[in-house]
Amino acid sequence: MVLVLDTTPTDGTGTPQGNGAAQTAKPSLAGLSRVRLAEALGAIGVPEKQRRMRVNQLWSWIYVRGVTSFDDMSDVSKDLRARLAATYSLDRPEIVSEQVSVDGTRKWLLRLPKRGHEVNAPEIETVYIPESDRGTLCISSQVGCTLTCTFCHTGTQRLVRNLEPEEIVGQILLARDRIGDWPGSTPPGDGRLLPDTDRKITNIVLMGMGEPLYNLDNVKDAMEIAADGDGLSVSRRRITLSTSGVVPEIGRWGEEAGTMLAISLHAVRDDLRDILVPINKRYPIAELLEACRNYPGLSNARRITFEYVMLKGVNDSIADAKALVRLLAGIPAKINLIPFNPWPGTDYACSDWETIEAFADVVNRAGYASPVRTPRGRDILAACGQLKSESARLRASERKPSGEAHPTDGPGEA
Ligand code: SAH
Ligand code: SF4
Repeated sequence: MVLVLDTTPTDGTGTPQGNGAAQTAKPSLAGLSRVRLAEALGAIGVPEKQRRMRVNQLWSWIYVRGVTSFDDMSDVSKDLRARLAATYSLDRPEIVSEQVSVDGTRKWLLRLPKRGHEVNAPEIETVYIPESDRGTLCISSQVGCTLTCTFCHTGTQRLVRNLEPEEIVGQILLARDRIGDWPGSTPPGDGRLLPDTDRKITNIVLMGMGEPLYNLDNVKDAMEIAADGDGLSVSRRRITLSTSGVVPEIGRWGEEAGTMLAISLHAVRDDLRDILVPINKRYPIAELLEACRNYPGLSNARRITFEYVMLKGVNDSIADAKALVRLLAGIPAKINLIPFNPWPGTDYACSDWETIEAFADVVNRAGYASPVRTPRGRDILAACGQLKSESARLRASERKPSGEAHPTDGPGEA
């Protein structure tokens, strides 16, 4: 039985209406960096010597207060508010649908503004997972994914494109709007099961659609905005980037972004990982673990999370569990065993519960605490690896010409 509350805002006819802030054709300032805000002010004639002060005002209204109308910016002159509103908006990505799981997990299907070559507006998914002591927002970094991990739903959706920094930050703003996570705003009527914390989004994980290290620069710019102490203020220690193992970018991410790191390991032997996580053919396990050992700032207080999806009869034997703990010896690590989340059309099944327990037991005895991740939001296909948007249905002829592929497109692209 699927118990899903569809709370998509509609106009009464069932037509989705976005998130309250009517979508306009005007470019949005929501999600922009300080540099881009200064440029936007320059473009409407704000003199250079005033821009820094004006940027600070906008920054605070957008990222501390979460306003969606220039009229609310009470310390900005009326004249400037009018000029801003004439050219720009504070729109968030448009909500196509919003679903709330019986366990309080929320999933938004979001539509992004079309860019140059795009025939259809791309769609992405963002998921919010409340627990009693934290609220985790799982955000997407790409529309689809160039990689083709065989157990991942997103992997069946070819890459449409990288997200821009503002589209990544926009997911955070949108989520804070919808769960009432701005100063003075109220949680939605169905706001049961929100965490017992001041801020309802305490953690961010880059575990939605896409391989974030194939969009490193944009993801980094977005996380700089998310971590900014005068704005959204999500500490870098509460931001985790998950990668399938883009080895050459791991060290750079650590140096330049300094967030926590998660590795989608899923297999302890190269022959199996080559199948499950095909990027392994390019960067095999030994190279991946070497990059992990060298990750900046690693300590027992700052461990790397190794994700391991439990696939029935594939990677879930006791021998695999023992090999896993041997492999990770010497790396400050956490292990997350993820019960496989099925999706329509998959050939894999989730390991039996007893098998998962036996596997977890070996891992526990090696000193890793409570490693099994409870699946969340399965009823709304919001759990790890279940995300996939309709953008997958774009025909090849509607996508950008192959010659324009992003320079960091992965090896899995057909
Ligand atoms: N591309 C990045 C981040 C997105 S995937 C990466 O691969 O790490 C987020 C996590 O969900 C990864 O660990 C991924 O391996 C896992 N995952 C993918 N499909 C899954 C599924 N069907 N069930 C459980 N976990 C899955
Ligand atoms: Fe892409 Fe991650 Fe899915 Fe692999 S697991 S296909 S890298 S989103």
